[in-house]
Amino acid sequence: MTGQSILLAWYDENKRDLPWRHTHDAYSVWLSEVILQQTRVAQGTEYYYRFLHTYPDVRSLAAADEDEVLHLWQGLGYYSRARNLLKAARIVAGLGGFPNEYEQLRRLPGVGDYTAAAIASIAFGKPFAVVDGNVYRILSRFYTLAVPIDTTEGKRTYASLAQEWLPAEAPGLHNQAMMDLGATICLPRSPRCECCPLGDACMAHAEGRQEEFPKHARRKIVRTRHFVYLYLRCGSEVFLHRRGRGDIWQGLYEPMLIEFGHAPTFAEISASAHLPEGCIYRLVAKGLRHQLTHQLLVADAYVVKLTDKPGGIDGIWIDESVRSDYGVSRLVENIYNIIDGVLDEEPACQNQQ
Ligand code: SF4
Repeated sequence: MTGQSILLAWYDENKRDLPWRHTHDAYSVWLSEVILQQTRVAQGTEYYYRFLHTYPDVRSLAAADEDEVLHLWQGLGYYSRARNLLKAARIVAGLGGFPNEYEQLRRLPGVGDYTAAAIASIAFGKPFAVVDGNVYRILSRFYTLAVPIDTTEGKRTYASLAQEWLPAEAPGLHNQAMMDLGATICLPRSPRCECCPLGDACMAHAEGRQEEFPKHARRKIVRTRHFVYLYLRCGSEVFLHRRGRGDIWQGLYEPMLIEFGHAPTFAEISASAHLPEGCIYRLVAKGLRHQLTHQLLVADAYVVKLTDKPGGIDGIWIDESVRSDYGVSRLVENIYNIIDGVLDEEPACQNQQ
């Protein structure tokens, strides 16, 4: 048996039963791949069903408006994926269906090398190998490769090795087998080498050096941002701001936000927000941490009770009962949950300037 057929036999016995594996329909495969780009399978499955239920085919998704799609996406994070999903659906609907060539798939918004290879191989049986964190881990350990994965040379080396491993007769199954092996056996920490179909030939396993691989050239730079959310309430209405271009969470809503480069005092917050003297406020969340790929957000949240709506602020006032109609980030969703738990309690402090 060759290495590929050993892997395929293992996959046949051990594959995860995932809903998108019961179809070769390009729309379903694409939807699942985009949802899973930065999301765990358990959470992604719920969203996969949600999207298929609301938009059963690419034409129905193409006809949706962006707010509706962002709202359905709420909680998954990385909202540019949702915006690209809609843009790509409109292009595909305009073409009359999904293109079956890798290069055409690759040109769709939000479809990178990995997603194009996954759709081309799984939906259309084309010989394109996927390369992601799972594949880097398996190949780097199997060959004890010293070339770092985050360099041009590393990317080229891994892409070409992954392609060499790909059996022409079953590219989709092989790619899914690599994904499952990485997700269930060749784990980042404590890989389960004793159950691995590649165990007999794996060099890192033989040398006990599994956790040394894959190699990285540089560490990720993470920027810390301090967010202060002011949940302004005036009677039954609350204030919402819609996020603009050029930053995270474009198009999503949030309470008034003030950003600092350091952890601010309330005097600094009050001065920046121009809160009227005498308004009542309450600190409801302090130091909430929200990790993004290159940013760490540290957020405080205040409920501020106003008797008059202040002028000159960029946003809308809505009745609090319809707040859930406005798509928000996961961080803001957490803050809403905290606020909803304390809203009936009396606000604690009064702004003195
Ligand atoms: S033997 Fe261990 S390290 Fe090697 S590929 Fe399998 S799980 Fe990964």
